[in-house]
Amino acid sequence: SYGDLQNATNGFSSSNLIGSGSFGKVYKALLPTENKVVAVKVLNLERHGAMKSFMAECESLKDIRHRNLVKLLTACSSIDFQGNDFRALIYEFMPNGSLDMWLHPEEVEESVMPSRKLTLLERLNIAIDVASALEYLHIHCHEPIAHCDLKPSNVLLDGDLTAHVSDFGLARLLLKSDQGSFLNQFSSAGVRGTIGYAAPEYGMGVQPSTNGDVYSFGVLLLEMFTGKRPTNEFFVGNFTLRSYINSSLPEQVLDAVDGSLPNNGLRVGFPIAECLRLVFEVGLRCCEESPTNRLAMNEVLKELVSIKERFF
Ligand code: ADP
Repeated sequence: SYGDLQNATNGFSSSNLIGSGSFGKVYKALLPTENKVVAVKVLNLERHGAMKSFMAECESLKDIRHRNLVKLLTACSSIDFQGNDFRALIYEFMPNGSLDMWLHPEEVEESVMPSRKLTLLERLNIAIDVASALEYLHIHCHEPIAHCDLKPSNVLLDGDLTAHVSDFGLARLLLKSDQGSFLNQFSSAGVRGTIGYAAPEYGMGVQPSTNGDVYSFGVLLLEMFTGKRPTNEFFVGNFTLRSYINSSLPEQVLDAVDGSLPNNGLRVGFPIAECLRLVFEVGLRCCEESPTNRLAMNEVLKELVSIKERFF
């Protein structure tokens, strides 16, 4: 209930704030009834739709389960003591934070900064986890679900660095629970994706789709293995990286991964540059300009698993 949540989060005090995103603030809380640490996302929408449809849509979101999706535990909808409409989503807590902070530690506060870089194998495992989650949403759910806003801050890591995709179904939740506010959110918030990760056709008014998610995944993959954000020279229009693929990979690409491991854990005789080249090729095939030329998520997953099996 709202009262329980108020207690669990200490009345949403700033000391429990763990992040702030396009839809609202995220707090860490202890649910006393279950003695469980959770993440509470308090939605900050311009206008809330009917509570009943919000709760119904949350119920159907709870049924979407996969080992690489962040589990939605429950939802809360209430009127707070000031008479304001209050909506929150309660997720399982991910102790290792978001992939974004692992990829760009120089940009985060010292208290949450990871103590080391991710190894090449850890990156490949995370990429496989995210691809599995998307394959599930796109192909194995009873109706295909497009994530619409895949990016490193929506990839969360649990205690053993298994990746769990978050914010899936949020676009649908807003669409189904209130058409009007969804349209408002369209222009301002992340439903249409995030610059750098959103497929080019979204900018031309095309509806978000599973093909669009593949594009975002491609960008994420390239970012994971170059350490560069999408606005960087590595893939302005993809051309720079594409041209590297046809020659040899520049040394600074290797700086992204943890060089402290001997040969990065690769099998003897399997060069890192060759492994990266194959990963980049997958990324670029996801980032094709034309949506129908992009790989499908089951193909992406197969390619990544085969790279892992070959090199490690
Ligand atoms: P965005 O819109 O950037 O995706 P979110 O609102 O989803 O932001 O989350 C903001 C931040 O809060 C994330 O980058 C992450 O650091 C943190 N966070 C969100 N959900 C969880 C969770 N379930 N467990 C741990 N941290 C979380």
